[in-house]
Amino acid sequence: MGLLDGKVALVFGLANNRSIAWGIVQALHEAGATIALSYANEALERRVRPLGEEVGAEIIMECDLSGDYSGLDAVFEAVKEKYGKIDILVHAVAFAPREDLGGRFIDVSREGFHTAMDISAYSLIAMAKRAEPLMPEGGSIMAMTYFAAEKVMPDYNAMAIAKASLETITRYLAVDMGPSKIRVNAISAGPIKTLAGAGIPGFRNLLRYFDKVAPLREKVNIEEVGQTALFLASDMSTKVTGEILHIDSGYNVLGLTVPREELH
Ligand code: NAD
Repeated sequence: MGLLDGKVALVFGLANNRSIAWGIVQALHEAGATIALSYANEALERRVRPLGEEVGAEIIMECDLSGDYSGLDAVFEAVKEKYGKIDILVHAVAFAPREDLGGRFIDVSREGFHTAMDISAYSLIAMAKRAEPLMPEGGSIMAMTYFAAEKVMPDYNAMAIAKASLETITRYLAVDMGPSKIRVNAISAGPIKTLAGAGIPGFRNLLRYFDKVAPLREKVNIEEVGQTALFLASDMSTKVTGEILHIDSGYNVLGLTVPREELH
């Protein structure tokens, strides 16, 4: 018997087999959850559909969060029609214009700020609102965040602002939805080579230095994020809500990001 037998999981943010969402989908599927998927645009369908079929997903729908929310409404409607409920909602979506990543922070544009906030942060509120009526017996909502929300990481600029907002939204939703037994948490993963990661100018070097200084001296992979998502999705975490869970080999506890050996 799987930990998630009988549960329905709706996942946003699958682009390809390197996506964090793929690590999560695999873990939830292996634990017995029924998977429904949404991807951003037609160009991604070629990669996403075969992955969805691999995990038996019957709902694999396009939904671009940059426009109006008719696509989002359609996804929730389809899940309601087919399954009548959602138990697990995964938000693994982020976007900021390239010009607003890298360079001086002070140059973040007003438009880039709005776009990053809208697609990467507000969308969590929009999804939670639509999920709530489909979670009458409670549920688990989770979003993907990054350490740049807490401390300054070079180049993240507009995305750092959006992630700080996403973390605040996570806490406010947790309080708002708590009485309905809906838990809302965020996973703060260390850097992983994905499409979104590649959009950060200094990402390759960030990755190169990460496991030289992170306490566990190891990079993070999507399977490990998937296991944490499984914990948050399941009854193993029934009293965990409003939490930002770091899956980052301990990087976030460091005060000095220079290997100890280099100080002596
Ligand atoms: P990814 O590129 O595989 O996933 C990002 C997803 O966002 C893609 O599926 C993309 O299609 C989707 N997206 C972008 N604009 C969209 C729009 N307008 N409408 C709908 N979907 C849209 O990269 P990833 O690294 O797996 O990112 C998933 C989440 O994890 C993001 O929130 C990201 O910020 C977060 N995260 C990533 C890292 C990392 O180092 N890769 C670390 C911590 C957190």
